[in-house]
Amino acid sequence: MIPVLLARIFALLKPENRDDLRRGHTIKKRLWAFTKSGLVLILLALLSVSCSNNANKKPIAQNGILDLRDYKFAGHIRLDGEWRFFWRDTSSVGISSSDDHINIDVPRSWKGYRYKGSKLPGHGAGSYFLTILIPERSASYALKFATAGTAYNLFVNDDLMGSVGIYSTDPGLSRPLYEPKIYNLGPLSNQLTLRIDVSNYDHRLGGLWESISFGSTEDIYQYREKQVAMALFMFGTIFVMGIYHLGIFSLSTRGKAALYFGIFCLIIGLRTLTTGEIFIHQIWPSISWEMLLKIEYLTFYTGIPIFYLFVRLQFPDELNERIGHVMVGISALFVLLVLFTKVDTFSSSLTYFQPLSLLAMLYVIYGLVLAFIRGEEGSTMVLFGFLSIVITFINDILYVANVVHTGHLISLGLLIFILTQAFLISIRFSKAFTTIELQRTKLERTNTAYQSEIESRKSAEMEVLRHKDHLEELVEDRTAELQVANERLKELSRVDGLTGIANRRRLDEELDREWKRMLREKRPLSVVLCDIDHFKLYNDTYGHQGGDESLIQVATAIKDSVNRPGDLTARYGGEEFCLILPETSGLGAMQIAELVRKNVSGMNLEHKSSPVADMVTLSLGVATLIPDLGSQPSVLLEAADRALYQAKGSGRNRVEQNLIE
Ligand code: GH3
Ligand code: MG
Ligand code: MG
Repeated sequence: MIPVLLARIFALLKPENRDDLRRGHTIKKRLWAFTKSGLVLILLALLSVSCSNNANKKPIAQNGILDLRDYKFAGHIRLDGEWRFFWRDTSSVGISSSDDHINIDVPRSWKGYRYKGSKLPGHGAGSYFLTILIPERSASYALKFATAGTAYNLFVNDDLMGSVGIYSTDPGLSRPLYEPKIYNLGPLSNQLTLRIDVSNYDHRLGGLWESISFGSTEDIYQYREKQVAMALFMFGTIFVMGIYHLGIFSLSTRGKAALYFGIFCLIIGLRTLTTGEIFIHQIWPSISWEMLLKIEYLTFYTGIPIFYLFVRLQFPDELNERIGHVMVGISALFVLLVLFTKVDTFSSSLTYFQPLSLLAMLYVIYGLVLAFIRGEEGSTMVLFGFLSIVITFINDILYVANVVHTGHLISLGLLIFILTQAFLISIRFSKAFTTIELQRTKLERTNTAYQSEIESRKSAEMEVLRHKDHLEELVEDRTAELQVANERLKELSRVDGLTGIANRRRLDEELDREWKRMLREKRPLSVVLCDIDHFKLYNDTYGHQGGDESLIQVATAIKDSVNRPGDLTARYGGEEFCLILPETSGLGAMQIAELVRKNVSGMNLEHKSSPVADMVTLSLGVATLIPDLGSQPSVLLEAADRALYQAKGSGRNRVEQNLIE
């Protein structure tokens, strides 16, 4: 791991172009900062070790005797060192007599010690003996027990002081229990002998595996109070933090980091309940020893992968995703082991999980250092928090090894880590809020812009609508004008250009209509054809212009001769005119024709070359019939034409009639 780390750092430091040069410069700066802070931490550690060495050196038990006569009591002392040990389990290792003892280290399991030529197993029972020589003083003393593996009876100067669980050399009777306890010894003379009978048939390891504290009653209680206060403070802080972050996650679906962190906090919080003063007994008094251990192991086996997932989420470029999956997989196997096997089995799994978790820790440090060197956001904070765990973890190892006298600090390290994480997450959230605020302002501005755009578009639309209305009006006007013009055109198309009376087309239309009307009403319809006599001669005499003028006068005279609304005067062609007289009998038509003839000749239009008279005269043919389905209007015109021909033939300037049956 370390060579890889160094190789990565050197690779980063090697500048290849100008940009890299600048980047290399900042990397160098960060690396220097990292080295500095590392040096400061190492110095601090050395200082604490040397300080503790200079302090009142704590005595250690030797050969079953702890001599405290020269020791100035400052707080409690741990009864660590060599205790005399007698094996009681007759089934496993020989028969013991009162002289068959070995020296055994406390705190530690008896497992693996050589006893009468063979190694002691984890299961069994034994008696621990320690004689404590105390200074002459009138103080009352107390003992503080954490947990022992896994049941014991305590004797002080051969008096039974108390017990935890049920001690027995019979595997069927021994009952395990974890219960931290204080034993009040009262005032003591210059010496006391402790005898602790320990039996274990339930855990992989047996024996006094945790330090027993000894001191004045006051100091011991103070020590416990401090432990309790610390544990409760830890639990409260971490638990609330867990709930808070789960709340954040439930409100925002994207806060996966908050989810992992919340779960991690709850796991660590639960763990603080199952270790140290084991407060879970207060919350859940009936919890079995086995269940307690299961919870303790589960918090460890699930805490590590959740922790990794959480850190990886923040530094995805530095920490591998697949390693996370592998960790989750491995942890799941260990979790299953805890869930489905007995304490004896799963407690041995710890030996395999610990190195794995150590590897994971080293890998996380590697990733965090990489992130720190690259200057990733928040990496300083996370690295600081994580190093506080590592340093307190190392401190605890040194403390247990009696190198330093600082006490167990891992909880503090965890707390620092959790606080830095919480701080980081809150920084990220506040940043998110700032971004939201900025975007809101931007959005508002955009909205206002859109609003005015909409307004201007609306007014433009109104303008268009107004124009449209105007346009419609215009179109209506034009259409009306066009209609008028059309009507006019239509009229013009049915009016004779020279004389201003109806033309041949109008004549045909009217004749057709009147024919049908008279057919329906069975009434007589008459037509009168008028032809100017010797008009060719007139033209020859007075010129074509003169002819035209006379045509106009004749047309007017003919028109003025009829006055019934249904009557029509039309130019039939050339110098011929035609009258349509609906509801007019043959007699009536004759009278009108005669009137027309008289009115025209009565104008006295000079016609010198006419062989008939000195003035312009007309010959007229009249035809009358009641229309029937079997005939056509043309029959009437043909009949009138025949009558006209007769009038011409019999001398002109006269009216002839053709009566059709
Ligand atoms: P009739 O008594 O047998 O009817 O003799 P007419 O000369 O009137 O008969 P005809 O049909 O032979 O001649 C008609 C003449 O009318 C021929 C033409 O010069 C003249 N005419 C026809 N239309 C017009 C016109 O619009 N203007 C003028 N000035 N003359 C016309
Ligand atoms: Mg003619
Ligand atoms: Mg004529």
